[in-house]
Amino acid sequence: MSEPRWIADEMLGRLARYLRIVGSDTLYARGVEDREILRLASAEDRVVLTRDRLLAHRAPRSLWIASPRLAEQWAQLRAAWPALSQSVAFARCTVCNGDLALATEPAEGWEPRVPRGVPVWRCGACGHLYWDGTHTAALRRRLADWAGAAEP
Ligand SMILES: [Zn+2]
Repeated sequence: MSEPRWIADEMLGRLARYLRIVGSDTLYARGVEDREILRLASAEDRVVLTRDRLLAHRAPRSLWIASPRLAEQWAQLRAAWPALSQSVAFARCTVCNGDLALATEPAEGWEPRVPRGVPVWRCGACGHLYWDGTHTAALRRRLADWAGAAEP
């Protein structure tokens, strides 16, 4: 069984971001009506992640997210889907959910904020650049903390 694709409601923006960080295909339905969320879920075979019980009930496949706290949301998602990756994947854009691909340095060099000598990924949809740095180290620590907290 392949990993589900997700559509997260407006309340779950941070959860959607972390799903993208671990490489999971996740739409973030910001400012989108429930009817459209349900339509997208059916059309693209996505599991609806929502804090709204009624919306969860109406969706063909859904997970009602109980907690407003991100760590608890993540734990609930892992309990429901134990195969969920826990590593920073550099596969999905956290801004737009586009696919990332390794990028080659342009002749004029990367923009100054990109560190030298590290692999850089680019979003095929919005062009956002990603690299392994201090922010990804912090994400890895957080994912490891959450994984540790789930152990008995
Ligand atoms: Zn993007």
